[in-house]
Amino acid sequence: MATPIAAKHVEKLARHRIDPNDITYTCDTQKEVVLDIVRQFTLSTEKLHEIKANFQEGMRKGLAKDGETLAMITSFGSFLALDVGGTNLRVVNVLLGGSGQISTRQAKYKIDEALKVGPAKALFVDEHQIRVHGGSAIQMGFTFSFPVLQTSINRGTLITWTKGFNASGMVGKDPVIMLQDAFNRRHVPVQVAALVNDTVGTLLAYAYNNPETAIGVIFGTGTNGAYIEQVDRIPKWRGPSQEREMIINMEFGAFDKERAVLPLTMFDNKLDRKSVNPSKQLFEKMIAGMYLGEITRNVLLHLIDRRLVFNGNISSDLNQMWTFETAYMSAIEADSTPTLHHTKKILEATLNFPPTSLNDRQIVKLVVELVGRRAARLGGVALAAILDHTGDYTQKTAIGIDGSLYEFYPSFDTDLLDCIEEMLGAEARQNVSIGLAQDGSGVGAALCALLASRNGDH
Ligand code: ADP
Ligand code: MG
Repeated sequence: MATPIAAKHVEKLARHRIDPNDITYTCDTQKEVVLDIVRQFTLSTEKLHEIKANFQEGMRKGLAKDGETLAMITSFGSFLALDVGGTNLRVVNVLLGGSGQISTRQAKYKIDEALKVGPAKALFVDEHQIRVHGGSAIQMGFTFSFPVLQTSINRGTLITWTKGFNASGMVGKDPVIMLQDAFNRRHVPVQVAALVNDTVGTLLAYAYNNPETAIGVIFGTGTNGAYIEQVDRIPKWRGPSQEREMIINMEFGAFDKERAVLPLTMFDNKLDRKSVNPSKQLFEKMIAGMYLGEITRNVLLHLIDRRLVFNGNISSDLNQMWTFETAYMSAIEADSTPTLHHTKKILEATLNFPPTSLNDRQIVKLVVELVGRRAARLGGVALAAILDHTGDYTQKTAIGIDGSLYEFYPSFDTDLLDCIEEMLGAEARQNVSIGLAQDGSGVGAALCALLASRNGDH
C-alpha cells in the first residue's frame, strides 16, 4: 500500500527525546563535558520564576514610560479580522469591550480582484495584473515586523532593526513613506493604507474564530508578542480617553538587555558577538528560529574542538556560520529510529561529515533537544508573564501564534503549555488554549487596510 506522503509533510512531527543518562559515553571527559552542557541549558522552575518576575517588571516599566527595554508600543486604528472565501470577504470589526472580552461585528463584501492579491503578494504585483485592475489604487496593508512608533494607522517611524536586518538610513524614518515612494516612482498604483505589526495582525486574525483571544505571538525568524491591555494600566498613554482597551505590541525580543536574569551561556555570547546587532535582542536570540541552529552549531564546535565527538573531525560546511539550520533540529528531534538514521542523513549527506558513530549522533540529538527545549520554555515564560499580568488565565483565554518555529518544531506547543502550567498552575492549563494563526500577520494587515480605506482614516 502506498504511504500517504503528503500527510507526512502536513502532520507535525512528534518528538522523541533522549535521556543523557541513557547515552554510552566514550570516556569520562565526554560525559563530564556533556553533562555540564546539560546543566547550562536546563532551566529550573525557580529560574523560570525569576525570569518571569523580571519580565513583568519590564512590562510595567514599558507601560509607564517610552524608551524602556520592553517598548510596549500602543497600537493604532480600527481592529479587524477577516475570512477569505472564494468571492466574498467577510470583514469583522473587532471591538475591544471593557470587560476583557472581544466582541465582533461582521460585514460581508464582494471584493474586487485587486484585494484578493493580499498584502504579501501585493508587494510583488506585476504590471500585467495592475493593468487589469485599471483606475483606482489597490489598498494595501503592510505588515512590518519591526519595532515602529506608530503615529497613525499608516504612519510611524522605525525604532530599531532586529532579526539580522541592518539596512542603513532607515532608523527614525517612516517605512510606509519609503514603500509608498518606491511604488510611486515605479507608477505602481498601490496605496499603503495600514501599517500593522505582525503580532497585532496575528492577535486580530486569531480573534476572528476565537473571540476569547487575548494574546498574539510570533515564533518565526524572530519572536515577539501583543496583548490586550486596559488603558488605565498604561500610564504613558496620552491619547483619547474614551478607549478602555488597547493592543500593546510588546517588542519582548529585547527583554533583559541589562543581562540581569537570562542564563546566557558562552554559546549564546558567541552568537551575540558575531551578530549584526550585538548586545541587542538577547531574549529573541535564545528563542527564535533564526538563531537556534546557530547556537547548536556553537555547542557542537566546542565538542569537536575538544575532540569529544566526530573524532575531532569537522565538516567544512559546519565551519561556516548559519549552516546548521533550525529546520534540521526539527527533523533530529523527531528522529525515533534506534540508529538515529535521520540524524545520520543530516550530518553525513547534508552537512558532509565523514561517517558518524551512534554516540556522535546521540550527543548531537541531545544538544538539539537542550537548545530547542530551552527556547520553548523561555517562550512559555513570556506567555505566563503576560497571562499573570492581565489575570486572563483565570478565565477561558486563547493565544494565537504564527511562525514556522511554532508550526514545525516538534512539541513546541506542548512545551509552551507545560511551562505555563509549571508557572501558573492547573487552572491555567485548563483555561488557556494556544493555536496556529496561519498567516495571521498578513491577514490582519489586509483587514486593517480595508477598514482604513472605508473609514477614510488617513
Ligand atoms: P517570518 O519570521 O519571516 O515571518 P517564518 O515564520 O516562516 O518567517 O519563520 C522563519 C524561521 O523559521 C526561520 O528562522 C527558520 O529557521 C525557521 N524554520 C523554518 N522551517 C522550520 C522547521 N521545519 N523547524 C523549525 N524551524 C523552522
Ligand atoms: Mg511572519
